[in-house]
This record gives sequence, C-alpha cells and structure tokens, in this order.
Amino acid sequence: MQTKEEIKQELQDLADKLERYDEAYHQKDAPLVSDAEYDALRRRAEQLEAEYPDLIPENSLSKRVGFQPAAGFKKIEHTIPMLSLQDIFDEDEVVEFMNRLHKFLGLPADAPIDIVAEPKIDGLGYSAVYENGHFVRGATRGDGSVGEDITENLKTISELPQTLKTEDLFSQVPSLLDVRGEVYMRKSDFLALNEEQKAKNDKVFANPRNAAAGSLRQLDSSVTAKRKLSIFSYARGAYEGAPFKTHWEFLQSLKAWGFPINPLIRLCHNAKEMLQFFHELGEKRASLPYDIDGVVYKVNDFALQKRLGFIARSPRWAIAHKFPAEQATTVLKRIRIQVGRTGALTPVADLEPINVGGVLVQHATLHNADEIIRKDIREGDTVVVQRAGDVIPQVVRVVKDKRPADSKPFEFPKLCPVCGAHAVKEGDDAVTYCMGGLTCPAQAMERLKHFVSKDAFDIQGLGDKNIEQFYGLGWIKNPMDIFTLRDKYELQLLSLEGWGQKSALNLLEAIDKAKDISLPRFIYALGIPEIGEATAKLLAKHFGTWANFVATSTGGDGIEKLTEIDGIGVTMAQDIIDFFAEGHNQILLAKLLSVLHVQEVRKSDANLPLEGKSFVFTGTLSISRDEAKSRVLELGGKVSSSVSVKTSFVVAGVEPGSKYTKAQELGVVILDENAFKKLLDDSAK
Ligand code: NAD
Repeated sequence: MQTKEEIKQELQDLADKLERYDEAYHQKDAPLVSDAEYDALRRRAEQLEAEYPDLIPENSLSKRVGFQPAAGFKKIEHTIPMLSLQDIFDEDEVVEFMNRLHKFLGLPADAPIDIVAEPKIDGLGYSAVYENGHFVRGATRGDGSVGEDITENLKTISELPQTLKTEDLFSQVPSLLDVRGEVYMRKSDFLALNEEQKAKNDKVFANPRNAAAGSLRQLDSSVTAKRKLSIFSYARGAYEGAPFKTHWEFLQSLKAWGFPINPLIRLCHNAKEMLQFFHELGEKRASLPYDIDGVVYKVNDFALQKRLGFIARSPRWAIAHKFPAEQATTVLKRIRIQVGRTGALTPVADLEPINVGGVLVQHATLHNADEIIRKDIREGDTVVVQRAGDVIPQVVRVVKDKRPADSKPFEFPKLCPVCGAHAVKEGDDAVTYCMGGLTCPAQAMERLKHFVSKDAFDIQGLGDKNIEQFYGLGWIKNPMDIFTLRDKYELQLLSLEGWGQKSALNLLEAIDKAKDISLPRFIYALGIPEIGEATAKLLAKHFGTWANFVATSTGGDGIEKLTEIDGIGVTMAQDIIDFFAEGHNQILLAKLLSVLHVQEVRKSDANLPLEGKSFVFTGTLSISRDEAKSRVLELGGKVSSSVSVKTSFVVAGVEPGSKYTKAQELGVVILDENAFKKLLDDSAK
C-alpha cells in the first residue's frame, strides 16, 4: 500500500499531467497520449480522490471540464453548463450505478428505472441554439461554462438543420432550444481526408476524432466547409416551450425537427438489459461507419433527472461505460522495494518494457507483501499487465506455464533496504513498515521533501534532488536545519559543486521568505499521518490560529473536540493527538516556531445560504438520505451524524430515533420534513 504522502504526490502528478493532456487534446486537437492512457490516468485519479477527498489537488480534473476556449475564438457562455460524464469500465459498476440510483431516489431495489442506452460517439461536443426555430449560434464545450463560438463553422455542416422542420405551418416550435450533440467524422471520410492531406503534404490526423475537432475548430470557417463532418444530437441545454417528460420523447422530437439521432439507441429497464446492449454494441463496434468508445446510459425520466442532479463535473443521472482497456504479456525482471515518508515498504515490479495499447510500460505496482503472495508473483515470471484504471500499471496474473524451472517465491525483506532497521507488518495491516523512524534516510528525506513541497512551505530551489544532496552532506537532516542553512553553510553553499552563486542566493532568499507561512500550509507541512492538504485547510479554517489548534489537540478532551469538526474522523483526531504527544515533535515545533511566523486565518463571510448551518437527520423522509444530504451541501450547509449543542437543525422523518430525544434535551431546533423542504426552497431562492 502507498503512504498517504505518496498518494498525495501521485494525485498532484496526475492532475498536472491531465491538465497538460487536456490542453493538448481539447484546445490544440493534438493529443500527447492515447485515450486509453488518458482514461487510465483519469480513472486512477478518480479512484484515489474518492478514497482521499482531503487530498484533491487544486487543479484536479474533478474540478473542471475540458479546457478553456482557445485564443482567437469569440467566446460564448452556456446558459446551462456542458458537463462531462463519469466513466466506468467494469460490468459490476453498471449494477452499482443502478443501485446508487435506487438508493438516491429511495426506490425498492427491484423497481425498474427506464434508462436510455446510447453509443458514445467519439467526436467533439457541440451546442446549437435555436430561437423561434432558427439556428442563431453554436459553441464548443470549452471549459463547460464558456465555449468557443463556432456558429459559422456549424453552418457548414449540412446535417445540422438551420431551421427546425415542422410538420405543417401551424405546428409549434420551441421559442428557445439549445441542442447538444457530437460532431464526428466518418471513418471513410477520415481516410479520404488523410489521403488528400498527404497528397498536399499537409498535416495528417491521428484518428477521426482529432480530424473532426481540428476541422470544426477553425478560425476560418471556409476550411471547415471543405471537410466532411457529420453530427448526432443527444441532449438539450436551455429550453423553453412544450415540456418533455422523457429523454426518449425529446430524442424523437429532435428527429422530427430534422436532427440526426443515433439509430442504435435503446430503452432499457435494468442493468441486465443495459449490459446486453453494451455487449451487442461491442460486437458491432468495428463494423460501424464511425468511431465509438463506449455506451452512455441516461435516466429517461426528466423529473428523476432533476431530482438526481449533478456531482461536480458530471450528472448523477448518466454514466459512460467505456469499452475495456488493453492488456499485454511481458517478463517481470525484478521486484524492487521503495520506502516512503511514513516508512511503508512498497514493492514495485521492473518489467521488460512492453507496449500496452500504445504506451510503453516499464514498471507495475505490486501494492504489498500480501498481494505478491496472493498472486504468487516471482522474479523472472511472465506476467499479464493491464493499464485500465491505473496510472501505475498492474500485474493481473502470472502465466504459470512460462515460469522458469529454478524460480523461487519472493521473500519480502525483513529489514528496511535503505537503513537496515527491522521491517514489520503489524496486525491486520497489509503494509510492512520500516521501524527506523527518523534514523531511516529514506523516511527522513521523504518527510523533508514533503515539508518543502508545493502545497507546504513551497521553497523554490529545494527540489527532491537538492534535498538528497543536502541530506547526504549532513546539512539538512530535519526541517529546522533548512532555516539555519544560511547561518551555518552560506559560504560553503556559494562554492558548492553544481550550485551557481545566483541559484544559491536565490535559495537562501526563498527560505527566508518561506518563514512567513499560512496556517493551512504549516499544518500540512508537518506531515501528520492522514492530514492532507484539504484537512489542513479545514483545521486552519476551524481554529483560525496555531495556538487554538495546539490548545485543543493537547487538551484533555481533544478527541471529542476534534471529532466535532465535520470532516475529522476518530483516526485523524487520534493521529493529531499522537503527533503532539511525541517528545521529538514538541522539540522540533518549539524550534520552528522560534523562527517562523504562522499567519492567522481570517474568517470569511458566509456566502451560501446555509453556510455555517449543520444538519442531523433522523427517521425516514420521503426522499433518500443521500438526496437530502446533497441538497443541504449544495446550499453550503453541513451534515453531521451526531447531535450536539452546535447542531443547527435536526430533521426528523417518520419514526425518528434517539437523536430526536437528544435534540429535545439540548434544545436544538427540530424540523419535520415539510419544514425542512420549505427551508431548502426558501434558501435556494
Ligand atoms: P468523456 O468524453 O468521457 O464524456 C463526455 C462527453 O461524451 C460529452 O461531453 C460528449 O461530448 C460525449 N458524448 C458522446 N456521445 C454521447 C452521448 N450519446 N451522450 C452524451 N455524451 C456523449 O469525457 P470528457 O471529459 O469530455 O473527455 C474525456 C475523454 O476524452 C477521455 O475519456 C479521453 O477518451 C478523451 N481525452 C483524451 C485525451 C488524450 O490526451 N488522449 C485528453 C483529454 C481527453
């Protein structure tokens, strides 16, 4: 298992990479990596973020859609955002998706929910706005809120109606209609285009999707006009006119108005039918005239869609089921052990380099000792490697009949490979830890790297390599040494091999500047287990000052006080308390605080209607707990599981439990379901 620090680092690396890849793909139509690799990274980030919500980086993909519009284009703001879709890869996840819907909507598990299954077209999303039946403007998705103006370009696509078709002169057209769909290029048109481009010695496109995007996103629409582009329409944005009850009905109207809709769409009623569609489509995929990369499942009933709402960058009522990623077979040369900041020993497989779905793979994670035993992985084995859903590829299984005759089971080290201290696996924990603590150079160095990292002290010029160099020289062994570097080693540093005078002075200056630090960064830098960047921010916001934080964490009722904070669980609270109880941490903190200035956090003004209000639910409501909770969170409120004097409201449904009595005892305001709904509606106004 990875340490939390390693996970945080991985998440940051993922966010940076995905940002770079998004820019290349969405803005420049020139992807740097294959979709399979991108999806694997995205998937890995999503999994980790779901598990560690406190470690989500600022620039995470989960906080945005696509990429901002390119310069040169006029911009168009979408009245209703154009979102992304959550991806799934496994069949089990289709069942989970349906279970989630049932749970959220408070329906019995076997109640049918109508789902429209549609091929996921591999093209470029568009929005086309019609006023009183006439096409007036069109845009790309852009960053979801603001897209690029492609009105003129869309006009060149003959399949897109310029005027909505009506059966007769008297039938109504909506006064406003924002139709969304995909612009794509047929495989045959793509091949022909590339032939032409080659003949002209012009750029050839990697695949039909890039050709479609590159052709549509042209500043000069006469270039678009020369390319053969096609469309499928499948969604709506802003809309005024006769209301539709279902997505299916809406698609049929689109067809009647003259929009091409995909002929393969199917109405399903349960996970079994959805999977059936997925398999059938998978078989047809190669012979279809256009590229698809999966299936999109959408809740049919618009009223249910409205209740289900959105999660950050994607709707809760739809999901994209992608076709599977690739596997390949290679030889595992060696099992290497890495030691992280908390001392966790992680085994890594060094592989004979192999191309998996267009990406060169050289390493795979083996997670921990148990995983090696479970899969019986040995050095020299031929193994199946998979990249689906994982940045660090995984070893799926061993090809046993290719195992060398002299192979031996891998012996997990009993000593830390870096410092030689005992390596111990405690209780049920799958992770083996080096017991060397601060004396283990690997741990000490990883902690220092964390201390100066971007979201902590952010000391420019003190990257990983430099930390290793200074550690090796014995100049920086613990965080305090960073701040005495100038006093003790300025002269030596100025003449140190590999360091120019300027960079050395810059480093010393950056260290001086870092002495003035914000409270959340300081808390995060300490590397308290479980306390990631988001939790550090939460603590800082709650306590306001370092002194308040220390007073609570070292007080007799620390656990109770800390766990009262929404988002702080018992394990986290205990880790905080343990951290302050350690003698060497107290000494280090005292020294650090003698040279640092830790800023206070200013309380920001409440800006959401329920900000600062906490809710506790008891009893059964007519909507599910998940739905009730998500409504409160959307309006800035918090939901907690236990009642205290700090609780603002207890919402009592049918047959409330002991929380109801507790609320009465403490004098907390109790709302019945109607009062709760009224409060939400009034707040949402
Ligand atoms: P997404 O493509 O996985 O899903 C959302 C999009 O699907 C929608 O915006 C819409 O345009 C499209 N779509 C196609 N058919 C649809 C249908 N029937 N109903 C609804 N939507 C439909 O997510 P995303 O955030 O738009 O883009 C991510 C995807 O783009 C990745 O999964 C990857 O395949 C590709 N990508 C690749 C790279 C790269 O470097 N290779 C970089 C960025 C994105």
